[in-house]
Order: sequence, then structure tokens, then C-alpha cells
Amino acid sequence: MNTRLFMYTLTFVVMFHLFAFSYVVEKSESGATLRWFIQPGDRVEYSVNLASCTDITDPNALLNAIQNSFNAWESVEESFIAFRYMGDTTLTEIGEEAPCADNPTNTCLYPDSVSLLVWLSTWPYDPTVIGLTTNWYYVDSGEIISSDIEFNMQHYTWRIINDPLTCNPQVDTDVVDVQNIVTHEIGHFIGLDHTPVEGATMYYASPPCDTEKRTLHQDDIDGVVFLYPVSNYPVIERVDPYQGSRGENTFTLDIYGKNFSSDAVAYLSPQASLEGAHQAAETRYINQGHIQALFNLTYMDTGTYTVIIEQVVNGSPQHAYLPDAFQIVSGNIPVDDTQDAGGCTCSTTPSGYSLWALKEFVISFIVLFFFSQRSKKRGRYDNKLT
Ligand SMILES: [Zn+2]
Repeated sequence: MNTRLFMYTLTFVVMFHLFAFSYVVEKSESGATLRWFIQPGDRVEYSVNLASCTDITDPNALLNAIQNSFNAWESVEESFIAFRYMGDTTLTEIGEEAPCADNPTNTCLYPDSVSLLVWLSTWPYDPTVIGLTTNWYYVDSGEIISSDIEFNMQHYTWRIINDPLTCNPQVDTDVVDVQNIVTHEIGHFIGLDHTPVEGATMYYASPPCDTEKRTLHQDDIDGVVFLYPVSNYPVIERVDPYQGSRGENTFTLDIYGKNFSSDAVAYLSPQASLEGAHQAAETRYINQGHIQALFNLTYMDTGTYTVIIEQVVNGSPQHAYLPDAFQIVSGNIPVDDTQDAGGCTCSTTPSGYSLWALKEFVISFIVLFFFSQRSKKRGRYDNKLT
């Protein structure tokens, strides 16, 4: 048995979402967001073992399907993510085996310089998994240093389904579309995890003959823009603290992110839009990556809120959203009916219940493998057949 296989640690990561309705980014064990550390104009390079996909006999057709998948992500206007095809390769291994740094008598798998897409005729993983992306990253920074995508040739039949009538999910129960699956796996390749949004490319499962994931859903677009926004578009990465109590009339929320400008205005909204949002009484610009917003939480309902930043970019208002980022819990409400300092039309009806109940949860299975002094790790993300 391959020595590295029994060194895997299977970790069940349960992610709880109070209102799970948006994209999810991959995180390292330190909480850092996984992403390629590239600048606008840079390209993430990948290679393909075209001959490994023996179901598709025309290598040009296969490459075309793969490049269409990369283009789906690259063509999102508000994101600068871009890719470069480095050519066909005969590589079949996603990394390089070498003695482990912490115990040289064992063999560890290390990332190589190639981000590889390869089809495996002998599938060493769960047979229900169609594709598996392995991201190699630094735990502290979340920087992705290599990413490899393996596809299951053993249990699935791969086709390019340009005409949906040529595939019948009742009959072709093991047939998957190359472009459909590759587009999903590229989402992992750039740092997105599974979304709870059904119909999105980053939904965890695909039915046979599915081609819906070829086209990005707005949720997928929001995800790639969050990770790789074109310059000047504001992005919220986190807020601190993540909750406040009703009754706090001068609550300070620190908002961290990118590309904030001095005209930025912060809002708390019960939904992922400005409708019904509460404007901050004051938004203080600290620097491009940090603003402070003062809210009067006195008469705001308990529950989960989206944090929103509005600022003018190239002459028009642009918005950054961080869904489900802040919660208001019940607190002591003063008896007077002073108007909210934020000037919003806040509800003065005390909410009789707290929305702490878990509305929906998502379970992700991530196989983690320690390979170098615990400073770097790899995470794996799959796509299953429903
Ligand atoms: Zn997946």
C-alpha cells in the first residue's frame, strides 16, 4: 500500500451558516483565506495531461472544453483572475515524493512546480467522487502555491455534451460533461469552497449529463470577485467584533478589507442588499484596508446582518458585501423612544426571539495531509454525482 495513503487524516469540517445563501471561500487552519497571491495582469499557469482522458479521442476538442472552463472564470469583468495554458504533459503525479522533513524515514508528498489536470484510469479515492482538487498552501498566509485537479476515469464516462439531447440521465447514468466538471474544479483551484446555492457552479454535486455548471451563477461571480477584485472595487474580508447587543447606542464595528476610500459609508442590512439597511451614524476612514463604523443598535432587530460598504468607484456607487458577518443579540433596551442616530427607519418592535437557531448547515469533507513542518498543508475538494 502506498505509504502516503494511510498518513491522510480525514477531517470532517462542519460549517454552520445562520443563513446559508452565499459563496464559501476555502480557509487554512489559521483562518486565512486561500488564494493565489497574484497581481492584476499576472496569470496562474496550468498544464494538462491530454492523453490521460482516453474517453475523448480528439485532444483539440478536450483542450477546447478545458479552456472554455477557465474562460468562464477569467471573463468575469470585475475580477482580475487569469490563466495561462502551459501545454500538454505526460505527468500523472500531482506532487513529488521525498523523505518527510520531520521524519526522514517516512515518505511525504511535496508540491511540484506544475499545476496539473489529469484523468486517472485507476481511482484511489471514493468512487462517487468525479473530480478532486488538491490545493497546496501556506497555513499562515493562505497563499496557494500549487493546485492539481484529478478526474475519475475509472467510474465515469467523460463526454463533451454540446447538445443536451445526446445525453439521457436515465440511461447515461455514469456520463459527465468535461466542461461542466472542470469549471467546478477550477472554482476550488482558485480558492472557492462549496456553496449551498443549488444551481451554482460551486454546488457540491452534479447529476449525470449535467452542463449547468459550465455557466457561472451570480453566486460564483460574487466569490471570484471577492477573491480577485479588479482594483478600486471595495472588498470586505472580516469584521470585528462579530456581534453586538441591542441597547448599545454607540457601537464601534471595525471593518477590514481592501480598496476602501475616504467616502466609504457602512451599512448593516438584514439581507444581502441595501433594502432595509441601517446606515452607520458615522463611518471613519482609517486606511485603505480598515474603516470604523459607529452604529446605534438600540432599536435594531436581533438576527444576522450583512455588512455593506458603499463608495464611489469611477464615478458610480459600488458595493462590497459580507453576508452573515454580524449578529445582533438581545440586550437591555432603554424605555425611551429616541430616534436612531443613524437616521434609519428602524423597527421599534422588540423582536421576541433570537435567530441563533441554525437555519441550515453544510458539511464539507476535507482530507488534510501534513507535509512540511506544519507550515504548509493541502486541502482537497471534490465534486460528487447525485
Ligand atoms: Zn467540489
